[in-house]
Amino acid sequence: MSSRDIIIESLTVGPIQTNVYVVGCAETGEGVIVDAGGDPEGLLGLADEHDLKITKILQTHAHIDHVAAIPEIKEATGAPIYLHPDDMMLWQAAPQQGQMFGIPVEQLPSPDKELFDGQTIAIGKLSAEVIFLPGHSPGSVGFHIAEHSVILSGDVLFAGSMGRVDLPGSDRNQMRASLERISGLPDDTRVLSGHGPATSIGREKQLNPFLKQDW
Ligand SMILES: [Zn+2]
Ligand SMILES: [Zn+2]
Repeated sequence: MSSRDIIIESLTVGPIQTNVYVVGCAETGEGVIVDAGGDPEGLLGLADEHDLKITKILQTHAHIDHVAAIPEIKEATGAPIYLHPDDMMLWQAAPQQGQMFGIPVEQLPSPDKELFDGQTIAIGKLSAEVIFLPGHSPGSVGFHIAEHSVILSGDVLFAGSMGRVDLPGSDRNQMRASLERISGLPDDTRVLSGHGPATSIGREKQLNPFLKQDW
């Protein structure tokens, strides 16, 4: 399969400039939304542009800036929502999270499926492996599409930085272990983060202080 067969589009949404993604299989026309964080019309528009039918909603974690458009996206697509169970407390507290960040949301519809480490998620003929990367939140995961050398890393690894570890449910030790794990991916793996520009594992291993030093 050539790299032309994957469709990856993104939008930057909301007050914390969150990257949300549409990933699709060009061959079958099946697509997923990774993090329904905002601008539901924009996300659905991207899917339409590529004639993708959204068949799954995949959540890297349940912070408000990554879930704020869940009600609209769920309503419009009827697609099952996938979340790691360790982020259920954050999911259920979405209205309270929203109050803190000025993003009004109602109680979210329940997730349909549990994510777990090592799970394979089909996106048409593509497959993404779930990598459990707790630390920023208790149930953070990345979605690794090995055949296309790309990981959607949520708020774990950013270009030159990492996700916050001072939030309720964050854990610095878990974050250290998760960064070590993600940095074990091949250097040419593209990293599509929850915030900021895309990068690669190799570049971050050279430049990212949180991968190089004790903190
Ligand atoms: Zn987050
Ligand atoms: Zn975020």
